[in-house]
Amino acid sequence: HHGDATREGEIAADLPPASDAGLRFIGRIETPFITRGDCPRQGDMENGPDCVLNLAPIYGPALREIGKRRHLQVFYWLHAARRDMLVQRRKGEGPMMGTFALRSPLRPNPIGVSVVRLLRVEGTRLFVRGLDCLDGTPLLDIKPITCREEMR
Ligand code: SAM
Repeated sequence: HHGDATREGEIAADLPPASDAGLRFIGRIETPFITRGDCPRQGDMENGPDCVLNLAPIYGPALREIGKRRHLQVFYWLHAARRDMLVQRRKGEGPMMGTFALRSPLRPNPIGVSVVRLLRVEGTRLFVRGLDCLDGTPLLDIKPITCREEMR
């Protein structure tokens, strides 16, 4: 998968084919990051570039009142990552780590999560800042950060 070769000392699993849980992509994420190397390791809500959560038009009603939110949790599918890694090394540096001790995109279920700042809403296009994913990454879900979680 896209050149995620196993490095010396890393461990991959011989997994059976995934039977997906029937997730439905709700849209795609537009970012200026075309290659993996262009992506920051984590997004930056202050200084990162503007990105767009481009939802399928059918989800328009599901965005009612979202413009009142300042911060959103965005869930996405890291579609270009291999899914069999058990032990890996961050960007090839540092100690060998278990996949579940890392936020690496290489994991059995490649779900990414970021907290983003909502800048504005144009129809079913949400302009946000704070993402770290490739242009075209499938969008899974959006949830507001509520006051109990500190930010609003
Ligand atoms: N912020 C998310 C999280 O913490 O769950 C993802 C963190 S992960 C370390 C971010 C990295 O995943 C990026 O730097 C890039 O190398 C890689 N990546 C981004 N979009 C991807 C995609 N669609 N498929 C595979 N890898 C991707």
